[in-house]
Amino acid sequence: MKIAILPGDGIGTEIVEQAVRVLNVLDLHFETETALVGGAAYEAHGHPLPESTLKLAQAADAVLFGAVGDWKYDKLERALRPEQAILGLRKHLGLFANLRPALCYPQLTHASSLKPELVAGLDILIIRELTGDIYFGQPRGRRTAVDGHFPGAEEAFDTMRYSRPEIERIAHVAFQAARRRSRKVTSVDKANVLETFQFWKDVVTEVHAQYPDVELQHMYVDNAAMQLVKAPKAFDVVVTGNMFGDILSDEAAMLTGSIGMLPSASLDRHNKGLYEPSHGSAPDIAGKGVANPLATILSAAMMLRYSLQQAAAADRIESAVQAVLSAGLRTGDIWSEGTTRVGTREMGDAVVAAITGKTITTRT
Ligand code: NAD
Repeated sequence: MKIAILPGDGIGTEIVEQAVRVLNVLDLHFETETALVGGAAYEAHGHPLPESTLKLAQAADAVLFGAVGDWKYDKLERALRPEQAILGLRKHLGLFANLRPALCYPQLTHASSLKPELVAGLDILIIRELTGDIYFGQPRGRRTAVDGHFPGAEEAFDTMRYSRPEIERIAHVAFQAARRRSRKVTSVDKANVLETFQFWKDVVTEVHAQYPDVELQHMYVDNAAMQLVKAPKAFDVVVTGNMFGDILSDEAAMLTGSIGMLPSASLDRHNKGLYEPSHGSAPDIAGKGVANPLATILSAAMMLRYSLQQAAAADRIESAVQAVLSAGLRTGDIWSEGTTRVGTREMGDAVVAAITGKTITTRT
């Protein structure tokens, strides 16, 4: 097994370091190789995704990614900005399915902005299609309007489109994921208004015929946005297109109240994947040693489960994270009265100690 480690920028390097420490105490046989990506790669090689980094990611069985970006790169031309590295990796690795679990740990229910009874025990999986939709559809651009409400005015336009194979493959990912969970899929669309999403709904319904053991419901995206804050526990697997998934997965993340806890996976058709925390590079706290490494550590657990077929090792990491939370250890983003505030490294120490069966101690 070969894992490409791409820490990136800001807190990326601090949190990935802790995840690698955790992987190293699991007695698994794997090789790791680290490369620059994002702003760090731009500084060293003039490009956020250098050829050498892409080759390493392509040759590996899985990629563990930190985060990229910093405000100082905002003035660069779009193609050289750190975030382009993620788009490039998704494209070149054929990553089309983004899996984002939103799990509310019983120890952290108070961190949610919703009432504890609404989120306690929350465990949903948002599956977002990554390659199609209005984000990539052509044509797009700016022009002078020839019709519409203001002919002759300057206008901008994008194209929403989905092909049958794109919808079929993401639907299969959703139904198969549901079989490992509560066998319930909600497909989110806007079929009442958009032709693209009437097609989405039709194709998902056709694919469902191959999964009679899984329950399927369809929901309009506006209703889904409401239901996610009204009764989030009614959902199990949610599958949707690129734009709706972008928005709903952030909404679901916030239900748990702690972006520093949420892992994610982006998979290709062979289950090779890129694993990263759902948050960004947090330049405001970078270098201070206070970032929460748990989202990255849990991303490493997802990597073991989905790409490296090491479910038992993934379970060990997830149980260790539970143990650390139960012991009352918290980084600043999830800290509350009565718990112990720790830094990035101490949190990594504690997860390592929980895995190796040592007493969880802190150096606060
Ligand atoms: P962000 O997720 O980096 O930070 C948002 C807030 O959450 C900040 O206050 C930050 O301190 C806090 N935060 C985030 N992760 C945390 C952690 N692990 N522990 C504790 N607190 C944490 O989003 P942003 O501030 O909008 O963006 C910062 C940079 O990150 C930008 O350059 C943006 O483009 C980039 N970004 C990258 C990714 C990615 O690499 N996948 C994703 C989102 C944003």
